[in-house]
Amino acid sequence: MARTRTQVAIVGAGPAGLLLGQLLHRAGIDATILERRSAEYVLGRIRAGVLEQGTVDVLEQAGVAARLHAEGLVHEGVEIGFEGRRHRIALKSLVGKAVTVYGQTEMTRDLMEARAACGARTVYEAGDVALHDWAGSHPRVTFRHGGESHEIDCDFIAGCDGYHGVSRASVPLERRQEFSREYPFGWLGVLADVPPPWSELIYANSARGFALASLRSPTRVRCYVQCSLQDKVEQWSDARFWDEFRRRMGEEVADLVTLAPSIEKSIAPLRSYVVEPLRFGRLFLAGDAAHIVPPTGAKGLNLAVSDVYYLHEALRDHYREGTERPLDEYSPRCLRRIWKAERFSWWMTRQLHLFPGDAFALRMQRTELEYLFDSHAAQFSMAENYVGLPFDEAARA
Ligand SMILES: Cc1cc2nc3c(=O)[nH]c(=O)nc-3n(C[C@H](O)[C@H](O)[C@H](O)COP(=O)(O)OP(=O)(O)OC[C@H]3O[C@@H](n4cnc5c(N)ncnc54)[C@H](O)[C@@H]3O)c2cc1C
Repeated sequence: MARTRTQVAIVGAGPAGLLLGQLLHRAGIDATILERRSAEYVLGRIRAGVLEQGTVDVLEQAGVAARLHAEGLVHEGVEIGFEGRRHRIALKSLVGKAVTVYGQTEMTRDLMEARAACGARTVYEAGDVALHDWAGSHPRVTFRHGGESHEIDCDFIAGCDGYHGVSRASVPLERRQEFSREYPFGWLGVLADVPPPWSELIYANSARGFALASLRSPTRVRCYVQCSLQDKVEQWSDARFWDEFRRRMGEEVADLVTLAPSIEKSIAPLRSYVVEPLRFGRLFLAGDAAHIVPPTGAKGLNLAVSDVYYLHEALRDHYREGTERPLDEYSPRCLRRIWKAERFSWWMTRQLHLFPGDAFALRMQRTELEYLFDSHAAQFSMAENYVGLPFDEAARA
């Protein structure tokens, strides 16, 4: 068994794990990242693309925002389509902030390159990762790599290994409380190399179900339609997808992309989920390992960023002060922001999707949307949440 030591063992090299590694490196704290997949596989996953201002600020602080500023697209509003009309929520003029469109894949690539440049250790294709003694004072992580067994001694373990990872699952059920909601539909997403004919995201509530016109760059669109949980990707040819998108989005928007061949197509279920607490002895959960939001509010990636920002502050202050206080604050501090993002994502999902067979919900949905389009206060509230609520200040000793 090959034995090494680090201060923080990070499980998972998604955005949460890589960003935590980068923030800790800049704070002078040593970390090793263990990732089950290869680097190429991680970079091939098509996921989020809308960054809050707070996320951009953290990436700047982490020293990985140069390409983001050069290539990211700043959006000062979003549109909502309903009953044949489009209504703009003017984010910037309402709350003074905008969002930036920059693919999660690009952000991941920037973080991987920064990590390689500083020589920090990342083990890709680490198999059978297992967490030990996290409830005591000497945690360890074991794994298999290159046909050999390895063990890392550490001060802390950061579980950044997503919803299906090993970190949360290592904590006995009786020590954690889970809150969840499954939605009766999924999102079918298509990526296509075609210049977006829309300049801002358009969320459409139509009688046939939800659709979203989004983008990843000036030459690439990302579009979604609400679909059944029983649907398989093979049932959705490109022609069927674009036809459905066009019917839901309206032809004046959809016409320009309806001939585009897809370069990626996938179905994701929609779920709300939170585990409490986020700290178990010397194990800390962050990102999708701790919570899931339906993607309607574009909050999943952004929440992962605020979690690891709080976690790096807690670890930094702990090493400086030599006290438990910053570590004790981590979970309640994160959960305050997580629940607000859960509420907003749930609200957006409720207002924009078709919930079959619920006539009362349909009337309430129409009433909510009419109120939103007519009320400055309601638009302000949506804008304030969409651009991202401010981070909590860390309590100082
Ligand atoms: C299809 C899809 C679309 C999405 N769209 C949006 C969107 O539009 N907007 C938005 O804000 N969010 C979106 N999200 C959510 C967003 O992508 C996630 O919130 C974000 O990836 C969370 O980052 P993370 O690092 O916490 O988790 P992940 O990105 O899941 O990374 C976890 C990492 O841990 C690794 N891992 C897992 N198990 C182990 C193990 N046992 N050992 C070692 N490594 C392990 C995984 O391979 C992975 O690399 C979407 C998610 C999906 C799936």
